[in-house]
This record gives sequence, C-alpha cells and structure tokens, in this order.
Amino acid sequence: MTETHHAPLPDEYPSSRQPTSSTYSRYKKFVLPLIGLFTLVLAYTTNVAKPVSNSTFHVPASPQCKKPQAYRPSFNKSVNLILNDKQFKIDSIKKLSGAIQIPTEINDTNPLPDDDLEYYSEFFKLHKYFEETFPLVHSHLKVEKVNQLGLIYTWEGTDPSLKPILFMAHQDVVPVNREIWDSWQYPPFSGYYEQETDYVWGRGSNDCKNLMLAELEGIEQLLTDGYRTKRTVILSMGFDEESSGFMGAKALAPFLLERYGPDSMFSIIDEGAGLLRLDKNLYIAAAVNAEKGYVDVRIAVHGHGGHSSVQPDHTTIGVASELIFMMENHPFEYDFSLDNPIYDVLQCAAEHSSFLPPHVREAILKAPVDESKRKVLTEFAASHPDIRDLIRTTRAIDVINGGVKANALPGLTSFIVNHRVDIHSSVNETIENDLYWARVIAEKHGYGLTFHDEVIIPETKLGHISLASEKMLEPAPVSPTAGHVWEIFAGTVQNLFQNEILAEQKDADVYVTGGLFSGNTDTKYYWGLSRNIYRFVAGIFPFDQLRTIHSVNEHISASSHVSAVAFVYEYIVNVNEYGHD
Ligand SMILES: [Zn+2]
Repeated sequence: MTETHHAPLPDEYPSSRQPTSSTYSRYKKFVLPLIGLFTLVLAYTTNVAKPVSNSTFHVPASPQCKKPQAYRPSFNKSVNLILNDKQFKIDSIKKLSGAIQIPTEINDTNPLPDDDLEYYSEFFKLHKYFEETFPLVHSHLKVEKVNQLGLIYTWEGTDPSLKPILFMAHQDVVPVNREIWDSWQYPPFSGYYEQETDYVWGRGSNDCKNLMLAELEGIEQLLTDGYRTKRTVILSMGFDEESSGFMGAKALAPFLLERYGPDSMFSIIDEGAGLLRLDKNLYIAAAVNAEKGYVDVRIAVHGHGGHSSVQPDHTTIGVASELIFMMENHPFEYDFSLDNPIYDVLQCAAEHSSFLPPHVREAILKAPVDESKRKVLTEFAASHPDIRDLIRTTRAIDVINGGVKANALPGLTSFIVNHRVDIHSSVNETIENDLYWARVIAEKHGYGLTFHDEVIIPETKLGHISLASEKMLEPAPVSPTAGHVWEIFAGTVQNLFQNEILAEQKDADVYVTGGLFSGNTDTKYYWGLSRNIYRFVAGIFPFDQLRTIHSVNEHISASSHVSAVAFVYEYIVNVNEYGHD
C-alpha cells in the first residue's frame, strides 16, 4: 500500500462508532468457505489446470443429481412484471438503494438498546424508511419491535391451523473501514446504480439489505395484487447479526417460540448461498442446510514470574509456544462423509459437467459403493484448503498475550483458540482434543492443569495451565433435502430459474442441492422453531460479487435482486397452494 492519506470521516459517524479491525477478519471465516467451491471451479475452468478430456469417464446410467420437480404457482399475476418489467426494476433498485443509504453499521461491541437508543438512530431511520416505502405491508401486517430494534412483521393467514412461513434477514451491516473509504469505486453508502454493469453498489447491497428488501417487496407486490394468504407469513429481522445476533436474533427467536411453540414454522428462509454457475450451462442452487459449530478455548499458562536472571528452562511464553506448536502440527483429522451437503454439490458437478478431472469425477460418483473411491474423494477435498475445512474441525490460534517487561519473567501467557466444529463432531469432542495437548505439555514441563474449576493435575511449583471454553455452539441440525417441505422449496427455485429466468438460455440446467457454511447466520437461535431451515438468496452470484461481501466495493446485480423478490412472491403462493402441514 502506497497510499497514506485517509478519507475524512463524514460528520454523521461519531468516533465511538469506528469499526474495529476484527470485524474484517470475519470475512475469511464466513465467506471463504462459501466461495471455496468457486475457487475449485475456477481452478479447473481457467488455465490454472489443464483442460480435462471428457472421453475417459462416463457418467453412470442412473444419475443421483436430479432436477427437482418444478412447482409453478397458479396465482402468478406479477411474476413476469417482477422479472421483466423495466419500471418495476427501476423502482426496486430505488428501494434497495434507499436502504443502503442508511448506514446501519454494527460494531463488535454495542450498548444495549435500552441504555442508548441514540446509538441506534440509523436503525430507526431504516424503520421509518420501511413505513414510507412499503405502505401496504405496513397497513396489512402487524409490526412489532423486540428489544427496541428487532422487527417482527406478521401477515395473518386465514387458516390459523397451518404452520407459518418464516423469512429472516438482518438490518445491520458490517462497518466500512474509514481508512480505505477512498478505495470504494462508489461511496459505500451511496447505493449507486451503475447502468452499464447493472450493479447496485454499497455496504449491505449483498449482505443482506437485498434479502430484507426482497422479502418486503415480494409481500408488497402480493398485497398490490390483492392476494390473501391462507398461511401466516412472518418476517423476523435482527439488528446485530454481524456481531453474533446477541441482542437481535437472540431475543426475536424466543419471542416467536413463546408465541407459536416449538417446531411451529413450516420453514425458515434466511440469508445464505445463491446459485453457483459451475460451467457455461450448469447452475447449482446450493441452499445451505447445515452449519458448523463454534467454540473459543482460552488457554493460559500461569507461572510464578520473578527476575529473569534466575530463570526456569522455559518461561510461560516458551511453554505456551510449545503447546501452540503441538496443536498446529496435529490438526483435526478430516474425512469426507457422504452425508456432508457438499457431497451433493460435487455429485451434481461430477454428473453434469466435465470440469473436474476424470479420476475425481469417478471417485465422487463411486464413493457410495466403493470405500477406496471415497478415500480418493477425501484426499481430493483435502487438497483444496477451503473444502478441507468443510470436512473437519478447524483450529486457529487468533490472540496471544504474554510478558510485560524485558527483565521480568512472564507470570502469565494466554491465548485464544478458535474452533469451527465439524458437522459430525461436537463442542465436547473439540475441547477434549485441546485438553489432550494441554495435558501432554503440562506433563512434559511439570505444570498443573485445570479446565474451568476442575483440577486435572494439581498446581506445581512451576504453575499450571488453565483451559476455559466460551461461545459454545454445536453444529446446526442438518435440515432435510428430501420430503414435502424441501420439495416445495426446491421446486420453487427450479421453476423460477429453469422455467422463468433462464428459459431463454438454451441448454441451461438448474439443480438444487443443500450446502454447508462454516460460519453461522442468525438462524443459530431459531433451531427450535423448525427443522426446515434453508439459508438461500434467490440470485445468481458470480465469484467477483461474493468476494466483495464484508469487503470494499460490495455490490449486487439488480437482476439478482429482482429474482429474489420473485422467489419470495412465488414461494409464499406455492406453500399456500401445495403445502399441507
Ligand atoms: Zn449477513
């Protein structure tokens, strides 16, 4: 970086709202796994890898990756308007752009709304903006606020015996780093629409004001068309998803649980992946139906300090370093189990495209009946770091502190280990693994060992190593990719993209699969409300767009936005017409 000048802070951002750098590191943890498959595709479809001949491998006669049956709503008055009308698109861009212009940034730590409403003034502007922009939504739906800022919209259905459909999204956005404000092509809160590219620019354009607006626009259009819903439709919108949903989703989900009870929702749709274009004619809609778990383990080596002229063989820094060294050199094992949602995506790629090398395609397709092929598949996945991290628990040492003075022995060295827990493992198993290595080092150096209050090895004259876990979250329950609820969801996606959006593109093929996130959306608080949770935004998202999420130049193509509006419209009607729980 050669630029040294900093963009001046606009007046409306008081310094207390300055973003913290750790916010940006989340990009790596959340977005990269999602685009891991893209990098894989790029590697094999650009000149990074040699072109692959299709002649040496033949797809089996009975493919496993099949197109779902398309569900076409009989009430579809505005589908064509939403997707193809110029004026509708212009209006829709305006609505999205207006929401982007309200900078609802959220930091890593924030005051409770009750303690400082002023801090959240942008959020109240956003609520007002919704009232003005969606008059029918606001006259037909009940609007409630939970914890001051969380929004619940309820569109009461005519048949209260049917389970409601729940749509989610979050009002907040990741802060814009003021130091690189100038590197944005268009100002980050301009919501600028660029006609030549069809892009809407700005923070939140793709994460996830697009989704929030699509939900409101879809319902506004149904109301414009005089549609009456048989099934209750609920929108639940948090306001601090980007800082773990601690005040928003964590309050909204219990509110709904209290009102409707456990397993009371037909389905839950939240932000997530969209359609991946795997090659020229192959589109895979990977609806994320699983998420890895999470746990931070705080490890501290407690010594007795003293003058550094009289020293032990290893200071607490040395002991901590050796423990870190051991952990990093003994990563968690990986194994590609075939119930991993990523397998479905790879299976579609193997059956319906030729970009993967023949031996890999063969391994993918024969893995269910041939253990040696499953091992080949495992090694293939492990050779791509982004995919490898979806088939194992990860361990990253993210923070370290130790020592204060050159001539004083460090009495304490501590560090934090961040884990993303494999879908087949658990928080406990993960902690056990850390404890194992801590014990190895404690025994080697003659230290005691504790886990929270439990003494595993008593304190010694040198000191002890302590472990404590926090922010534990088990891997999310895997939502089904078969059965009634899935069929309507996948069938709506299939109809929208195969039969409507890509109808003119000859040879285009759309498949719908599950998918896996290594991060977590606000849905982590909603597990009790439905087993059918799909994290999906109905747009085609190229690699260069996804890369800008949480980063500079966030943007979305306007056509990917109107397709998401159409999805909300069609999905509500389809569940009303075909759903029977
Ligand atoms: Zn988001």
